Amino acid sequence: MTSKAREKYDVVIVGASIAGCAAAIMYAQQGLRIALLDARSDIRAHKVLCTHHLQPCGAPILQRLGATEKLLALGMVETVPTFWTPWGMITPDAAENSPPPGFNVRRETLDPLLRQLANDYPNVDLLLGHRVSGLLTENGTTAGVYGTEQGSVFTVEARLTVGADGKDSTVARSARCDSVTASNGRFSYFAQLSGLERPGGETSLSWFMDPDVAYLLPNDGGISVLVVFPALDKLGSFADDLSTAFLEYANALPGAPLVRREHIVGKIVGTKHFSTTLTEPVGNGFALIGDAAATNDPLWGIGCSWALETAQMLVDATAHMLTETPADTLDSHRNVNAALTEYRSARASMTNHIDYMSGYAGGRKFTAIERLLISAATHDHDEARRFYLFGSRLIPAEQYLSTRSVARAAQKHLRHRLRRRSVAGT
Ligand SMILES: Cc1cc2nc3c(=O)[nH]c(=O)nc-3n(C[C@H](O)[C@H](O)[C@H](O)COP(=O)(O)OP(=O)(O)OC[C@H]3O[C@@H](n4cnc5c(N)ncnc54)[C@H](O)[C@@H]3O)c2cc1C
Repeated sequence: MTSKAREKYDVVIVGASIAGCAAAIMYAQQGLRIALLDARSDIRAHKVLCTHHLQPCGAPILQRLGATEKLLALGMVETVPTFWTPWGMITPDAAENSPPPGFNVRRETLDPLLRQLANDYPNVDLLLGHRVSGLLTENGTTAGVYGTEQGSVFTVEARLTVGADGKDSTVARSARCDSVTASNGRFSYFAQLSGLERPGGETSLSWFMDPDVAYLLPNDGGISVLVVFPALDKLGSFADDLSTAFLEYANALPGAPLVRREHIVGKIVGTKHFSTTLTEPVGNGFALIGDAAATNDPLWGIGCSWALETAQMLVDATAHMLTETPADTLDSHRNVNAALTEYRSARASMTNHIDYMSGYAGGRKFTAIERLLISAATHDHDEARRFYLFGSRLIPAEQYLSTRSVARAAQKHLRHRLRRRSVAGT
């Protein structure tokens, strides 16, 4: 094998998908020199296992990347979903104070655009076909990465190494980061549908069937994505005959449009036993962002926006230090680690949501408190808005599930029931 060493960069980022491209663009906007590596060699490559919903918390970051207008021009759909629940419909968009929308855009549209935007910066070297296999170290500090490219060994040195290499991250494994894993009590299958009549127009439809969940997401290119998350005890019928089970399940969803075999474009794909993982996101000279730092249950459609958010948190915590401190000084190493501690604290703001999601991923039914909050959201606009803001991760879990919030919902729900009883009695 031959060996190729490159110049030293400010930051080397492993993984040129959502988190990696977002971080590369934001660092590049501040004038830093970036190496952005991906094992895949096609600039148009995209992640297949994804149902393409971007929660609204990612919207300001898409804007910062200069991607929003371009994606809207490519057909990205703005949407506030409605929710079917056993206790009634929740329509957050009907609230007077309408909440911020999320977006639906297929990864075959999103991923190549972000990669191209990153590649357009002269201070970003996009190195495709570079598979990283380990970390370089110097005096106990991470000093870059090594790997293989077309049979040759390469090394890339940098002041800061970023793992944006997704679930089962090589960077996290090489650095022996601590992690906590939880199992998933639901499986998922989804398909892209063409020519489907959309009863809600461009509104996404969600079914919270307790414990099963499903979504119908109108996307760019006239495609709708239908995804189902049944509890594991239903896996047998899907294993026997996937397309028949998928269609039967889809057509039993209350109020869903009729889905026929001929609507399905390509394959029905999904996940079984998809475990969630929370990983220590920083170490000596390196950080993890996106799925590498936390792989959450896909049921909540949060991974893409959190890939954007963690990229932003990292850049905001470290870029200033990297531009101000000269490289290769003792101060530089110390300052990198101090800035990484700041990133770690910012990321900790997500922990309660992560704990909540990994608990729910077990496949349980809603608790009495959750049923109360959902019931209140079916008849009260403010509660509907709060339910949506919680699901979109725009308000902290501890706020939505606080005693105060539950007491307010209980009061409203009780008043609603008394009103209904008195109307029924007249
Ligand atoms: C079934 C399913 C449905 C989902 N639906 C949604 C949804 O609707 N909305 C949502 O927000 N999230 C969804 N997610 C989650 C979402 O797909 C991820 O959270 C998101 O892709 C994370 O982005 P990332 O950039 O961190 O990692 P990834 O998108 O996984 O990218 C990692 C990149 O690193 C590269 N890489 C990996 N290893 C190496 C290596 N050793 N060397 C070099 N490069 C490497 C890969 O080639 C890849 O380009 C879903 C997930 C699943 C499984």
